[in-house]
Amino acid sequence: MRTETVVVGAGPAGLLAARELADRGVDVTIFEEHSVIGEPNHCAGILSVEGLKRLDVRPSTDFVQHEVRGGTVFSPDGTAIRIEGGSTRAYIVDRAAFDMHVAGVAQDRGAEIEVGQRVVGLTVTDGDVTGVRGKIDVRSDVVIDCEGAAGSLARSIGLPSSTEGILAGINVEVPDVSVEPNMVEVWLGSETAPGLFAWVVPIGETGARCGLACSGGNALRRLEEFLAERFGKSRHLEPIRWPVLTGGPVSRTFAGGLLLVGDVAGQTKPTTGGGVIMGGLCAVEAAKATMTAYDTGEFSEDVLGGYEISWRSAIGREFSTMLFVRKFMNKVSDERINNLFFSMKRAGLEPTLEGLVDEGDMDMQSGVLRSALTDLGMIRVLAGSLGRMALGELRRFFNL
Ligand SMILES: Cc1cc2nc3c(=O)[nH]c(=O)nc-3n(C[C@H](O)[C@H](O)[C@H](O)COP(=O)(O)OP(=O)(O)OC[C@H]3O[C@@H](n4cnc5c(N)ncnc54)[C@H](O)[C@@H]3O)c2cc1C
Repeated sequence: MRTETVVVGAGPAGLLAARELADRGVDVTIFEEHSVIGEPNHCAGILSVEGLKRLDVRPSTDFVQHEVRGGTVFSPDGTAIRIEGGSTRAYIVDRAAFDMHVAGVAQDRGAEIEVGQRVVGLTVTDGDVTGVRGKIDVRSDVVIDCEGAAGSLARSIGLPSSTEGILAGINVEVPDVSVEPNMVEVWLGSETAPGLFAWVVPIGETGARCGLACSGGNALRRLEEFLAERFGKSRHLEPIRWPVLTGGPVSRTFAGGLLLVGDVAGQTKPTTGGGVIMGGLCAVEAAKATMTAYDTGEFSEDVLGGYEISWRSAIGREFSTMLFVRKFMNKVSDERINNLFFSMKRAGLEPTLEGLVDEGDMDMQSGVLRSALTDLGMIRVLAGSLGRMALGELRRFFNL
């Protein structure tokens, strides 16, 4: 079989890349190993309002379950900082339904989707990728590899894969519990979730989607303990586990005939592990680079390397800023975080934080982080609770 472009994986990155290419008249086929798109659903489903706009995905009742205006962040000792925006900041989506919806759009534009078809290898001819191997062999001009966090195809031909910041993620639905509507909860602490945080996401009148990501294993035990503490006696549905990536993008995302997009390329936010929007933005860049290749009739790494230049110049700085902040946060002890929260409350900084978050961007976080480090009240509190050296390290990174 031959198709112009093969996409491996019908997650958001693959579906959006295929949507863009099909829109421009490319003959594109997605191969998805599972028989149902979006399953198994391992995602908390928090997608920013501005992120969906950037991806040109209109919010729809097909997949939006709830809307949130902000969040309450809890320090390890349980001190709460409430940051509520004036308007909806994020949609809580059913990720399986979201993926299905985007798949429908991609198909309407002309993309083919083959489900139940696992790609087992890449075909390489004279050093360039020229197709994929699976139940059938498929030849193509370009392969866009969007196989997600556990991908191994690119590694098999010598491209780098994520090695740092790979956390154990776990998610469950907890029915019949009462949580504040329109607000997510984020719980910090080295006992609860070292390396990231635990989350509680409202999904309707009664019920929440809860999970955590952590380094050092035992995600299920940590989650059980967290749920018992948060809700007392409650039952939850079957947990779903999947890696959460916080280590930033891999060092190379292209080869002759091949582009890497989404989780397989480490294109997630190191501060939160969220990857739907960032991977989606890179998928759009991948489609543009593929079109340039079709315009020139050249699918070599010299031409497809334009993808890496374009996504890095569009959002590379965001990734490196969030990675710096993640590594910084990982070094801060629980005790210092407790001090920080206590000091922020005592200094009455919640309105300042709300203002920052209202003006900020959930995905492109460098702006809000920079603003926080120029606010005098925040500077005083950060110096007092984290120490002057730590504050200096943060401010130097931002050239302040
Ligand atoms: C617990 C948890 C919670 C999360 N919460 C959020 C959140 O709230 N917001 C957010 O933005 N992000 C969240 N994420 C991250 C988000 O899920 C990923 O960043 C996103 O799914 C990446 O999209 P992708 O298309 O790159 O990969 P995936 O969504 O993983 O899709 C890859 C697809 O490729 C298929 N595939 C893999 N290998 C092959 C093969 N060889 N052949 C054929 N098909 C193959 C897979 O079956 C899968 O369908 C969360 C992740 C976890 C684990």
